Parts: sequence; C-alpha cells; structure tokens
Amino acid sequence: MTRARVLLLNAALGPLDYRVPHGMTVEPGSIVVAPLGPRQLTGVLWEPERMPSDAEVGDNRLRPLVAVHDAPPLPAPLRRLIEWTADYYLSPPAAVLRMALASSSALEGGRTVIEYRATGRVPDRMTPQRAQALERIGERQGLIRELALAANVSDGVIRGLVKAGAVEAVEVALDSPYPIPDPDHAPPTLSGEQRGVADILAASVADRAFAPFVLDGVTGSGKTEVYFEAIARALREDRQTLVLLPEIALTEPFLKRFIARFGEAPVAWHSDLRQSQRRRAWRAIATGEAKVTVGARSALFLPYRDLGLIVVDEAHESSFKQEEGVQYHARDVAVMRGLLEKIPVVLASATPAIETRHQVTLGRYRELKLPSRFGAAVMPTIEALDLIGDPPERGRWLAPTLVRAMTETLERGEQTLLFLNRRGYAPLTLCRHCGHRFQCPNCTAWMVEHRLVSRLQCHHCGHMTPPPRACPECGEEDSLVACGPGVERIADEVRALFPDARTAIVTSDTLWSPAKAAEFVARMEDGEIDIVVGTQLVTKGYHFPNLTLVGVIDADLGLDGGDLRAAERSFQQIAQVSGRAGRGEKPGHVYVQTHSPDAPVIRALVSGDAESFYAAETESRRDAGAPPFGRFAAIIVSAEDNRAATETARLIGRTAPQVEGMHVYGPAPAPLAMLRGRHRQRLLIHARRALDVQDVIRDWLGALDWPRSVRVAVDVDPYSFL
Ligand code: ADP
Ligand code: ZN
Repeated sequence: MTRARVLLLNAALGPLDYRVPHGMTVEPGSIVVAPLGPRQLTGVLWEPERMPSDAEVGDNRLRPLVAVHDAPPLPAPLRRLIEWTADYYLSPPAAVLRMALASSSALEGGRTVIEYRATGRVPDRMTPQRAQALERIGERQGLIRELALAANVSDGVIRGLVKAGAVEAVEVALDSPYPIPDPDHAPPTLSGEQRGVADILAASVADRAFAPFVLDGVTGSGKTEVYFEAIARALREDRQTLVLLPEIALTEPFLKRFIARFGEAPVAWHSDLRQSQRRRAWRAIATGEAKVTVGARSALFLPYRDLGLIVVDEAHESSFKQEEGVQYHARDVAVMRGLLEKIPVVLASATPAIETRHQVTLGRYRELKLPSRFGAAVMPTIEALDLIGDPPERGRWLAPTLVRAMTETLERGEQTLLFLNRRGYAPLTLCRHCGHRFQCPNCTAWMVEHRLVSRLQCHHCGHMTPPPRACPECGEEDSLVACGPGVERIADEVRALFPDARTAIVTSDTLWSPAKAAEFVARMEDGEIDIVVGTQLVTKGYHFPNLTLVGVIDADLGLDGGDLRAAERSFQQIAQVSGRAGRGEKPGHVYVQTHSPDAPVIRALVSGDAESFYAAETESRRDAGAPPFGRFAAIIVSAEDNRAATETARLIGRTAPQVEGMHVYGPAPAPLAMLRGRHRQRLLIHARRALDVQDVIRDWLGALDWPRSVRVAVDVDPYSFL
C-alpha cells in the first residue's frame, strides 16, 4: 500500500492524498489522473513534506489513482520553482502548475490529429460569411474551432465549407522530431570585445553552476551574436536553452537570425500556436528533444528536461511582468530557475533596470559590457526639439526641424521611424458643442478613436462602438472632435506632408501575429517603406541598416504615469527607439520632441550620460525606500458592486497588522477605479527590504472572510500602480 500526495489542477483545492494501485509505478513529478467526486482531474505527484495537506485521510479511505499520463515526470528543479513562485507571489501552487502543464492535449495519447485547411476550391454557394471565412483562413491550418476563431465565424460555417469541398481535412503527425540546430553552421567572426564576453558566457555554460549575468551592451553592439555563442556551447553539451523575448512580435526576426546562425529554427512557444503545435512543442521540451526554445514569458514554466542556459533578452522590459492570474515577473523567476537548475542566466539589455544594476553593485550578478556598436556603426546623435521654442504648425504634431530632417532623409533614399506610444487616431474624442467626452461604460478610461477600422475602442477592456454621427448627449450632428494625436493621426500628417512617401503604421493592431511581423520586416528590408510610424512595438529588437532618422513625437508622454519607474521607463524607451537609428554604415540621428528639454531624462539622453541619470534615479529610490532598497506589495480589491468592494477593502485596511518596518496606505479607489465593469480599490504596502512581507500578508488575509463576489488579488513587487 502506497500513499501519494497529488497537487491537482484546481486552484481552489489543496493537495490531496490517493492510493497508488497495484502495478502502477509513480514517482514525485509523475503526471497522473486522479478521481475527485464524480470527475477525473490531472495532477502531479509531490513530496508530501514539501506540500503539507490539511485534509489528511486515513489509509482505508483513500481513493486509487486512475492512471499515469504518458509523459515524463516534472523534474525536481521545476517542482521547487513552482513552490517558490506560489510562495513568493502568494498564488495557489495549482495556478503555477497550470503554466507548466500548458498543453492538456500533450498529455493525451494519440500520435496524429485531424486539422483543416482551405483547398482553393470555390464553393458552389458563396455567402458573405463563407467569403469572410475563406479570406481570413488564407494559408492557416488548424482545428475547426481554431479556424472559426481566426475567421470570426461559427464552427458551422467551417463545417459547411468542408462539406462544400472548400476546406479539407489533413492528418497531422504530432510528434515528428524537430531538427537540431548546428552550433557550427555559420559562426560569426567576433570582435575582440565580443569574443571576450562570449568566452565567459560559454565557459559558464560548461561549468554547470548558477551564474547570473547582466549583458549590458549598447544597441547594435552584438548582444544577440554574443549570447548565440553561449547557446552554441549548450548545443555542444547537448543541453537545452530557453530564450525569453518580451513580445511575440519579436519572435520572427529572432527566428530569422537564429536560422542564419544555426541552420535550423528553434522551437517557438507563444500564444499564437495552434493546439497541435503546442502539444508537439511541449512534448519535445519535456523529452529534451527541443534543444532551443524561444518564447514569451509563459515559456518559463515549461518542463525542460535538461536546461543548460536561460537568456532573457531586453530584460528591462516591463512586459515580462504578468498582470493577471499569477502576477510574476519573468525576469526574476528566470533567475530563480537558474539558481534551482544550477545554470547560467543571461539578462541582456542596453538599458538594464535599476533593480538589476543594484544586484551588480551588490556583487550578486556579474556585469559584462559591450560599450560600442559592432563594425563601422556608431551610436546616433540625439538632439532635443523644444516644442515651445520650435513648435509645429497649428493642428500639427511634427516640429519644423523634424520635418526638414525627414525631407532630407527621404531625398537620400533612407528610412525614418516616428515613435509615439499611442495606438489609434486620437486618445480622446469630445463634442465641440456640449463638451461630452466618450468614456468606456466598463472602465475609467476614454474611448480611443481608431479611424482605420472606424471604431471607438477602450484599450483596457476592448469595448468597441462605431463612432456616432451625432453626440449622444446633446444630439448635435457632426460635432465630434479628436483631441491629441495617436499614431494614425501622425501617419495622416506624414501623408499630407510627403504624399509620395510610402508610410506604414506599426502597432499591435497592425502587427498582431508573427506572420504580420515577418511581412513588415521583409518590406522594410526590401526598401518598400520610407516612413514608419509606430508604438513601443518598433522600439526594440529590429535591425534595419537603412533606417537613419528617428523622431520621438512626445517624450513627455512616458512621464505622465507618475509612478516610481516613470522616468526610468521613459529613458529606456527613448534609448531603445534611438537605438534603431544608424545601425548600419550610415550614421543615425534622433530628434526628441519635448516641452521640457531640461528634464533630467532628456538631458541624459542628449548628453549620452546615462550613468549620472541612473545614479540620480537610484539615489531618489534609496531616499524613498523604494525598490530595490525597500519593497512594495499591492492588494487590489474588486467587485461588480462598488459597496462590496469598498467594504472588503475597508475590512482589509482596518485589520492591517502593526509590523515594524511596514506601512499600509489606503484603501483608496484605484486610479483605474473601474475596469471591465468591476469597481476597484487598492491598498499599498511599503516595507523594508528584509521583511518577509508575503508571510505578513498571508496571515493577515488568511484570517479574513469576504463575499464570493469580491476578488482580492495581491501584486508582489508591483509594476503597475493603476
Ligand atoms: P544588439 O542585440 O546588441 O542590438 P545585434 O546582435 O543585433 O546587437 O547586432 C547588431 C548587428 O550587427 C546585427 O545585424 C548583427 O548581425 C551584426 N553583428 C554583430 N556582431 C557581429 C559579428 N561579430 N559579425 C558579423 N555581424 C555582427
Ligand atoms: Zn473599457
């Protein structure tokens, strides 16, 4: 008789004990099927001493496990990572486990699946829905459900197309092996500087010990080429590598470079994968056959069998922080995974975060620098344009100096990038007659006009309405005016100024899939685009040698948020976008439009003196006891009913423990007081570094009860203060 403790995939349940039936072999990490009432759930066997259960049941009352899945057990370092993440971010272990078991179909048997794709035949009877489906399906292949989702039609429409012969079934083998990248395919000749750094990283891969590195190199210094050498070493050692990227739009350019260097593609992991691709990737990762995986933050919890190296590229990016469910920071968890797996972790960035720099100061992370651009490329010159001294014409957003520079760039046949971190046409629409402002019914936010698709859209919940002809408040027709610019409005201005130039808008609205990103990259490289107007999506990763001019439309925008990282984030963003200019042989130039050319951020960018900017920011963090010198945690209370949210938040505030070195602010309505129809209240906990704030919060909230309709979320080390 053996007992087994099982962590089930159900966040509401603690671990439960089961009986292992005769003839079944299991070990810690085994992925099993366990009965729960009338249902069967997937779970993972755990060491009982590491996962205490408060529902201990006598041996004679244990129910037997049903089956063991045909998949390798979760390795011990991953089990420790799941425990640590649950503990640190105050989340149910099952919620973290779910990220490791991210493909339920990967656990099921069967080696093939039926997918569908268009045949190119036109159905005899064509309806608007069928036409839409065929147009959107294009080259896509997938389950009926996946095609229906992509085409925004019902499953029935796709099934009808199958009957009509316009879509056909294909059998897909699920576990066909991935080709193995070749470390010797096309190694570059590294510069002396690059070689020194690459050798250190490669040696540490061979060492098989925990070693956190900060690869701090200016944009275009060859950070990617250098960490590729560490990957090559891991390949030679036959170990796996994980590369985390901040956006899935960056996957495509990464894949191209990777193939050029290693001859074969890595395994990609992101939210745009089909179920069958997900399954295949998961299994290859779990068996160790997937040698290099590149992915968004969710790839971090996958069950790598023999991980030898983790790279976090653009490690300063705030998109590594997950803001829903388990609110973890992938950069920090990556370092923890490196510690548990006993492997090197490389945080690559041209603008490392203050938290990361601090770890270098403390001697915990080793800093490796690449201070100059590779080859003939030099850093671009950066100039501030004072919007008060040199203002754009009335109703326009581009200062005359920037327009002149754009004209010259066009004449030289080179490319320009204009950066504004605002999607849509205008951030605010109002009625000129009565002043009515269009607000989202579900959120504390303005509706943003998107002219390309002629919609007003909420950027928080996605709510959309067609722009009304008449003001809903006063009934006046044609009275709506757009206030302020978004990228679409800038693109309009560009087209008016340069009617012959070829313009592209790059935002998450236009580059919503890796394939779209690939198309954009190809058009840029082929010189089919003269001027790009884009959001933060174009600020990182891309390498376009003919792009020589960058214009930052509104450098003051980033400072609006006012949270503790606003200045740092602004600096990073502008430094990154500037880094797109002059990456080839032609020199780059950057104009930064601002109302406050004397602000420390702008001065640092223009002078190139990042160090004194960081030093000043770091000092002000130290004075305020802000991270990395002190710590924050937020408690967000939300409910559809405002009173319920307020009362629970007050209860939490009233019962706040008195702890030396800790202060609780609030509750107060969140700046985003309403989000997706839920009213929100926030409390902010500020504590000294050494305090185990998680323990305090666990005891504090654990003793309280609130109505089921109220959600209480804890955000440890918050990045958003909304
Ligand atoms: P970063 O990641 O630091 O911005 P990249 O790795 O993208 O820099 O390098 C910038 C450009 O220079 C890329 O096109 C890259 O292929 C090229 N490059 C860098 N180092 C080398 C090298 N040693 N040999 C050939 N090309 C290189
Ligand atoms: Zn909304």
